Amino acid sequence: MPELRQNFFTKEWVIIATERAKRPEELATHRVVQPIPEFVESCPFCPGNESKTPPEVLRYPANSNPWAVRVIPNKFAALSSELQPTRSLQHLRRRIEGFGFHEVIIDSPDHSRYMGLLSDAHVASILRVYRERYNALSLDHRVNHITIFKNHGADAGASLAHPHSQLIATPVIPSQVRHRLFEALRHYDDAGECMFCHMVEREVEDQTRVVLKSERFVAMEVFASATPFATHIFPLRHMASFGDISEMEVVDLARVLRTLLAKIYVGLENPDLNFTVRSGPAEYAAARHFHWYVSVIPRLTRVAGFELGSGMFINSVLPEAAAEYLRKVAVEKVAGAAMGQ
Ligand SMILES: [Zn+2]
Ligand SMILES: [Zn+2]
Repeated sequence: MPELRQNFFTKEWVIIATERAKRPEELATHRVVQPIPEFVESCPFCPGNESKTPPEVLRYPANSNPWAVRVIPNKFAALSSELQPTRSLQHLRRRIEGFGFHEVIIDSPDHSRYMGLLSDAHVASILRVYRERYNALSLDHRVNHITIFKNHGADAGASLAHPHSQLIATPVIPSQVRHRLFEALRHYDDAGECMFCHMVEREVEDQTRVVLKSERFVAMEVFASATPFATHIFPLRHMASFGDISEMEVVDLARVLRTLLAKIYVGLENPDLNFTVRSGPAEYAAARHFHWYVSVIPRLTRVAGFELGSGMFINSVLPEAAAEYLRKVAVEKVAGAAMGQ
C-alpha cells in the first residue's frame, strides 16, 4: 500500500509509492566505465596549471608544493565580494547588491579521484579546509549564511570534471534554511529539546534506516525521503554550527562520509550526486535548538510536473530498503581506485 510520510524537520509530506516500488539495484546507472586520466593538461585545477585560476585563497598544507587541497575564488562567481550588501526597496521590489563569496575547493591534485575514492586521511584534509573557510568567512559581519556543497556529475551541476567542492556565503539566510530554523525553534519551545538529537537517538535505537554508525557520527536514510537514497550524516554530539566540529570529529566524519560516498559509488554505479553541509548560521553556534548535518542526494530520478506543481515528491524506493541495500555494499577495497564515469 502507498503511504504518505511527513518530514519531521520541514513538515513536508512525501508519497512513498510502494506500488511502483523499485528494488534499490534497479536504480543503478549501468554506466560504461571509462578510465579518467590522473592529469589533464588543459584542466585549470590540475597541478602545474595554478596560474590559470584566480589567485589562491588557501593552500593545504600551508605553503606546500605539491599541495593536497587548494581554495580559489570561483572564476564565474554567482556573487562578488567587491560589492556591499546595500538594500533597496521600491514598491514591492526588494533588492540587495550582489555581495557574497563564491569559492572553489579543489579536492586533490588528482583529476581522476572522486571524493569517495580518496583516502580517509585526504578527505579529513578537505573537511579541515571546509572548516577553516567556514570559520574565516563567518567573521565577516556582512555574511549571514554559508553553504558548502559538492556537485558530482553533469546532472548534479558540475561543469568541470576535476573533483571539487564549492562554498557560497550569502548576505541573507535562504528561506528554506530559515524555515528549518523556525521549525527547530518551535520544537525546542514545545518540547525543551533539540529535535535533531531526539530523532537521531530514536533512529539509532531503531536501526532500520541506519547505513553506518561510528563513535561520533551516524549516516541514515531519511524517514520521509523525497528522493531515493537521500542520506543524512548527523554528529552524535549536539552542535548547531559546522564551524564547531572538533579535530577528532573531522577524522571520524571523513571516514563516515568517504565510506558512504564509496557505497553509493559502488552500489549504484557512480550516480551523479550532490552533498551539502547544512549548518546553522554562524551566530547560532551556541543554539540549543539547531543541529548541523550533511545531506547526500544521489540524482537518480528527475523532478516531474507533480513535484514542480505541488512541492510534494513521489519516492519509489522505501528508505528502509535503501538503508539495507547500502549496508551490504562492501567498499573496503575501493579507496584509492581510479574513478570511472
Ligand atoms: Zn584536472
Ligand atoms: Zn541536537
